[in-house]
Formats: sequence, structure tokens, C-alpha cells
Amino acid sequence: MRVVILASGSEGNATVFVSRTTQLLVDAGVGPRVLAGMLKAIGLEPRLDAIVITHAHADHVGHAAKLARKCRAPLFASEETSRELGPLSSSIARRTFGPRERFGVGELELRPLPIPHDAAQVSLRISDGSASCGLATDLGEVTAELEEHVAGVDLLLLESNHDEKMLAEGPYAPFLKERIAGAKGHLSNAQAHALLRRLGPRTKTVALLHLSRTNNRPELAREAAEDALRGRGVALHVAPPRGPLVLDAAPREVARGRLDLFD
Ligand SMILES: [Zn+2]
Ligand SMILES: [Zn+2]
Repeated sequence: MRVVILASGSEGNATVFVSRTTQLLVDAGVGPRVLAGMLKAIGLEPRLDAIVITHAHADHVGHAAKLARKCRAPLFASEETSRELGPLSSSIARRTFGPRERFGVGELELRPLPIPHDAAQVSLRISDGSASCGLATDLGEVTAELEEHVAGVDLLLLESNHDEKMLAEGPYAPFLKERIAGAKGHLSNAQAHALLRRLGPRTKTVALLHLSRTNNRPELAREAAEDALRGRGVALHVAPPRGPLVLDAAPREVARGRLDLFD
């Protein structure tokens, strides 16, 4: 499975999960033209089998209706998020899932898990039968359940939103600082560090997502994650606000097998 991060951060989030036969978009923070341009640039067909929305904030759902119409792709959201989205054109096929209900799109299996945010939000574990990815952004804290949910994934996409000191000393209004740092806000570099330290040995690639432009710097997020992952042989990436950033989620055994061929 390949993972293509098209956009990440408060200006828009969009990630495509690509298996042999299936192309699934999670979050619709870019429009149809940007999506098609980026997919073509990396040699993929500009098509989608489905769109999954993690939660109803504008940076995740902004272009959902337009993309669903243009790509003729069904729009999946949890029951609560679907209610928050409100009415959509009848030409869009809507599907809902329970907050912990497994569902399938083509050959991909998705497992949602509710995570704490100031909107109904889910983490997703996505598998194509051989490789698996975990996606967790827009969460105020890491729960024990989430840790279990992403345990053993080949590729982890994890929020590393802000540096706690930069947020505290930054220009945001006090209520906004409280919201972001709160239990239903966003994950700090230090919180991401704590989760990454406890990551099992199977995970071989980590990407940091949803970095704040105002309250973080890519090098700070990277330093914290590198410290947590030191000596573990994990490839670390920091998603830029605009991609595409292409990642490979092949299982570790396969990757090693490939290397062995050339040793
Ligand atoms: Zn967001
Ligand atoms: Zn959000």
C-alpha cells in the first residue's frame, strides 16, 4: 500500500491510500483540480473509489461535496459526523459507519476508533491485507485505546501539531491557546513523543502531520520524534502543508526481503 499525503495542516488535510486496485481519499481538504494534478504528477490515475471524512471541521471536509460529485465517489462519515455535515446534494452517495464499526472500500479494510477532539473524530486503521496504516490527527490526548488501535501498524501517520512553549508564548488569543492545548484540542510534539516512544518494533515508517504554522516548526517536531525513535530504524517524515509526499507502507518483512535480494 502506498500513502500519498496531498495536504496537511489547518489549511487543509487530504491523504490518499493506494492499494493494487483501490484509491481511497481520507479527508477532503483540497479541491478536485489540486487532487487530480498531484495524483497525475506521481503517475496515478485521478480517480477515487471513496472519500472518508474523519470529522466535520472545515480543513477536513471543505471540498468533500465537490470531490464526491466530480469523482462520483461515495462519501463515508461516522453517524455523528454525517449529521454535522447536514444535507448534501442527492447526487452524492452517502454512507455512514458506527464509530467503532469496521467497513470496507474495495480491497481496503477500515477500522475507526473515536478519539478526543472538539468534534466527533475518529482515528483510522487501514489495511490492504498485507500492510497496515494508522492515522491519528486532531486529538487532544492519546488514549490507551488509541495506542492499542495503532499498535503494530507498518506506517503511522500521527499529529504533531504544536510546540507547547511556542503555543504558550505565541500570538493566539488565550481561549484559542486553551482550546488547542486542551484535552479536546490538538496533539503537541511532546505528546507525540510520548506515543512514539512506546511504539512497537513492527512500525517502520512514521509521518508527522497537521503541524501548526504559527505554533510549531518542522525541525522542532522532527527533533522530538527523532529523540523518541532513536536507534529503532524507523524512517521519519514531516508532512509539508502541501504535498504530495509519497510513503510506502510495505510490511517490514517484505522490505527486508527486497534488501536481501541485493545483499
Ligand atoms: Zn484539522
Ligand atoms: Zn479538527
